[in-house]
Amino acid sequence: MKKYLLPAIMLILFEIIAVTLWITKDNLFYLFNFSYIGISIALGIFLFIRKHKNARRVTQLLVGLYMLVYLGLICNENMQIEGFWYYLFTGVFEAATIHYAVAKIFGVLIFGRGWCGYACWTAMVLDFLPYKIPSQPRKKIGWIRYITFAVSFLFVAGLFLARVGNIEIIMFWAFLIGNLLYYAVGIGLAFLFKDNRAFCKYICPITVFLKPMSYFSLLRVTCDTSKCISCGKCKKVCPMNVDVTDNSRKRENATECILCFECAKNCPKDAL
Ligand code: SF4
Ligand code: SF4
Ligand code: SF4
Repeated sequence: MKKYLLPAIMLILFEIIAVTLWITKDNLFYLFNFSYIGISIALGIFLFIRKHKNARRVTQLLVGLYMLVYLGLICNENMQIEGFWYYLFTGVFEAATIHYAVAKIFGVLIFGRGWCGYACWTAMVLDFLPYKIPSQPRKKIGWIRYITFAVSFLFVAGLFLARVGNIEIIMFWAFLIGNLLYYAVGIGLAFLFKDNRAFCKYICPITVFLKPMSYFSLLRVTCDTSKCISCGKCKKVCPMNVDVTDNSRKRENATECILCFECAKNCPKDAL
């Protein structure tokens, strides 16, 4: 039973978040929302432990579709970065601000970039593309993320400064158009660089939060160097080019790990 400790811990952590927000915000939605996400994540880890081939994808589709279709399209909640700025400027700790605090800012200190591996609806689509293992060296164009980050901030700040009316409607359309744009750019880059995760590596504005926070992440893949035979398989299959054999927090592309465990699955010595 010991091997099922991790899914149990994840479930309990999310239930704590669910119950705390339900009581403090007096809103039953938070109980449903975070319980659903916790169950989806725990199920994915459980399936992974049972060596199910598509364990991660199950969680990714359960959470990603829920957030994109139910929260985004049906409930009109802009959970993209523009929605985060919007709620931040209105001074409301609701929807997107809570989502960002849990999944993309403070939660990263515990779960690392688990969001990117198990929940993101952009990557949910990109992971269907054929280039799961990057075949080209990384490009030095990661600076683009700061531009997309600044553009998203200035767009929402501009709406507030210009006192534009109907911002909620604009936010809904920004969510729709923004997502279509992300998918178009993400798919285009994946084919151009033969790398499904090129969008994550170079363009995604959320990585401006994710990368520095994940440096300190509690949950991380480490290597038992006494077992490792330096075959290099782990680095070869890593979609994010992480040198996982180096246990230092400063290892190559350390803040890029999405906890997909492809490295561990492919290690011939169970060293990860
Ligand atoms: S880097 Fe951005 S697009 Fe990629 S999985 Fe993470 S949040 Fe999603
Ligand atoms: S796959 Fe395993 S044995 Fe090979 S280099 Fe990586 S950790 Fe070491
Ligand atoms: S393959 Fe390993 S090191 Fe690379 S992103 Fe996945 S879990 Fe992290």
